[in-house]
Amino acid sequence: MSTIEPTLPAGTVPHDMRAAVLDEHGLRIERIPVPAPQRDEALVRVTACGVCHSDLHVLKGEIGFPRPAVLGHEVSGTVVALGTGTTTEAVAVGDRVVGAFIMPCNACVECARGRDDLCLRFFGLNRVEGSLYDGTSRLARADGTRLAMYSMGGLAEYAVVPVSGLARVPDELDLASAAVLGCAVMTGFGAVRRGGGVRVGESVAVIGIGGVGTSIVQVARAVGAEPIIAVDVNTEKLDLAIELGAHAAVNARESDPVEAVRALGGDGVDVVFEALGSPRTFAQGLDMIRDGGRLVAVGLAATGQTAPVEITRLVRRSQRVIGSYGARTRTDLPEVVRLAASGAIDLDRVVTDSYGLDDLETAFAALTDGRIRGRGVVRLA
Ligand SMILES: [Zn+2]
Ligand SMILES: [Zn+2]
Repeated sequence: MSTIEPTLPAGTVPHDMRAAVLDEHGLRIERIPVPAPQRDEALVRVTACGVCHSDLHVLKGEIGFPRPAVLGHEVSGTVVALGTGTTTEAVAVGDRVVGAFIMPCNACVECARGRDDLCLRFFGLNRVEGSLYDGTSRLARADGTRLAMYSMGGLAEYAVVPVSGLARVPDELDLASAAVLGCAVMTGFGAVRRGGGVRVGESVAVIGIGGVGTSIVQVARAVGAEPIIAVDVNTEKLDLAIELGAHAAVNARESDPVEAVRALGGDGVDVVFEALGSPRTFAQGLDMIRDGGRLVAVGLAATGQTAPVEITRLVRRSQRVIGSYGARTRTDLPEVVRLAASGAIDLDRVVTDSYGLDDLETAFAALTDGRIRGRGVVRLA
């Protein structure tokens, strides 16, 4: 059993911690044992965890996930221990790190091809069962009740994260704000650079300006897209998009967003990013792209949700519909951190709201109501 004994520096890690546990009664803060990392896993003292729509979908039961569970999949913090037998140059005890929501298993055929975003064990074990890659969870209540982990279960004071899902955060970045690099910004990066393959001078529209939408705007700006058109129903969010580099803003409450985007792009845009996951905005996105254009679907919808696509138009106009989920953690997360360190991703502007663990209900209510202007984070330290 020696391989599962963690190398915890004596006296630095408490026996138990506060965590947000979701069970049949809802979300509650509980004291549970601090998890122990196994081989190739790190124990991270969580500084902050982002508040994301994926958690909200699970919370509302729109996306299936076992309960009881600890949600939270966008974390930053400090490595306080590594599992015994871990050999990595990527992180060391004491490092400031960000954790990606896709934690590649390093062993499946997709990981071997570099497609961390398709990792079979991440989807099969973590997203279905709430486990890590030996098929068990690191989290449990003191009475032994298993707690499923949504990614690393980041809405807790400590989290076990496979080292494949971590990247170092340089000193110039605020560690709490850096949490959003692990889901929102990584998803925006994957959508622009991988899903959309956006090139210099291409016109872009972004539907839904939240954590992911603001990231898409910034990454699109960094690759030289022009114009970048932000679409939302919230004036404050649109103002933020302009501050972050969008060239134009369309308020879908005040004008027909399809007509407005088509006009601004000059008979449509090259790439539309749909970051809401709603059938209506998905259809609007299809109507916004020019001949030969791409619609990149980034927003998750409730399981089973569909949207119509006009077949002949898609065929005749050589349009493409592309799904994009996260990014390739091992190669893209370090790149996302570099982009932030270079200033191309302005984290101080993206992270607009901050909460304590006790304010979690307030945070998710604000997210539900669209009151978080950019991204909200829960501060755990
Ligand atoms: Zn997320
Ligand atoms: Zn894998």
